[in-house]
Amino acid sequence: MCAMFPERIAIVGGGPAGAFAAAALASTGRRVLLFDEKMAWEKPCGGGLTDKALARWPFLREAAADHNMISDCELIAPSGAKVRFSLDKQIAIFFRLALNGVLLDRAKNSGAKVLRERVLHIERTQGTWWVQSATSQYEADFLVLATGARNSFRNVFSPNLGPENFMVAAGYYIPGTSATVHIKFIKGLHGYIWVFPRADHFSVGICGRMYGKSTAELRRMLEDCLPEFGLSHENGRFYAHILPSLTPEALRNSQVCGEGWAMLGDAAGLVDAITGEGLYYALRSAEMFSDAMLCGFPETYASSIRREILPELERAARIADRFYAGDWLGCSVLERMIQLTNSSTKFRQLMRDLFSGTQEYSNLKKRVYRGLPRIAAEALVSTLGRGGSHWRLQRPASRPDSEAQLLADGRTDTHRRKLPSSQPSKSAYGRNPEQH
Ligand SMILES: Cc1cc2nc3c(=O)[nH]c(=O)nc-3n(C[C@H](O)[C@H](O)[C@H](O)COP(=O)(O)OP(=O)(O)OC[C@H]3O[C@@H](n4cnc5c(N)ncnc54)[C@H](O)[C@@H]3O)c2cc1C
Repeated sequence: MCAMFPERIAIVGGGPAGAFAAAALASTGRRVLLFDEKMAWEKPCGGGLTDKALARWPFLREAAADHNMISDCELIAPSGAKVRFSLDKQIAIFFRLALNGVLLDRAKNSGAKVLRERVLHIERTQGTWWVQSATSQYEADFLVLATGARNSFRNVFSPNLGPENFMVAAGYYIPGTSATVHIKFIKGLHGYIWVFPRADHFSVGICGRMYGKSTAELRRMLEDCLPEFGLSHENGRFYAHILPSLTPEALRNSQVCGEGWAMLGDAAGLVDAITGEGLYYALRSAEMFSDAMLCGFPETYASSIRREILPELERAARIADRFYAGDWLGCSVLERMIQLTNSSTKFRQLMRDLFSGTQEYSNLKKRVYRGLPRIAAEALVSTLGRGGSHWRLQRPASRPDSEAQLLADGRTDTHRRKLPSSQPSKSAYGRNPEQH
């Protein structure tokens, strides 16, 4: 049996989290006011969505407009060693303008009232929320904060987060496209560079710990690396943003809801501290919150998050330092990971499952150690085949090894499109992605 339901729900923030929740609640007849100061916009983001997300919300896979399905991936180690492999489950690279648009349209079509207004102030008196925008004041019985990483209202509900809980990200939208996602790791960087090809431009970027490197330093590192991918920042539009990367302690102590309020997605800090993946968690937290609300027990949202999302995010936060800066089997984790992806089909399958979102951190270690005899044997055979010693990391010439890998995966060169010339075309890029 469902309990009493708050009449009027105000949702501040119409990104993936807020728009998803608005649609779910309004479609059952709830009175939902959704505020976004920009509406659909090109929020700084790679736009990468895993198969796990596409399988859970098939309407996203069907929203064919303006997303690029990718099945080739290249990883580059700090030493320059590379591996290229095919993904068995494609990832979608979205224009954020399009993704936000699809989700906001769902909210509108479900009956939510969607307002393009910046919320300036929130206050509660005698059980009623007062939401103040530049032009009007609104009343609500329940308040949802989905304002993203720059959550200026967090301190109304819970302590503010220090800089150790954030990463900075900077990047460019550069005209062109290709069929391969590239991820490059750099020595001393707790983060990575990504080159994500969208339908008619690349979202390239770099992320790193906020207390580690300044945005200017990250930007320079990225610019220096772009020629390696046949790209130049001179053709691109710059962006920068922050993304949550909560410490294990902050995650353990985080409060995602209280009496009459809830926080979703980035506003609640729900981002993977290793990969920076936040879209899945934004949508899933919105879904969990809506389910809890629709049963009339919004407080059960907190236990759902604690049960399903926090353990995985806490594990990521605990192992992030080791992933980026630790050693494994005699050399850096990153170098070893790329070597084994190159030399072992079993390890490569594990990497594919990580990319598709089906391999969780909870049993990652077990899976690796269980598979280690075969992984080691495959690595040995592969290394002996190249005439090298077993555990010494090879530095493969990228093309020959890449070709070998694609062939080993049953793909031929004709499956791959060339890296682009950087010609602009009709584009969402042309729709002026916002600069920050
Ligand atoms: C550079 C970068 C790259 C990323 N790449 C990926 C990726 O490839 N894959 C992935 O899964 N995740 C990625 N992420 C994370 C992802 O972008 C976020 O996790 C996701 O956008 C969170 O969704 P959200 O709805 O919680 O917040 P947001 O998408 O940030 O939406 C918040 C909304 O609130 C609105 N808003 C804020 N304040 C107010 C206010 N006062 N009044 C009215 N409206 C307001 C904003 O306009 C915005 O539309 C990346 C993040 C960054 C910074």
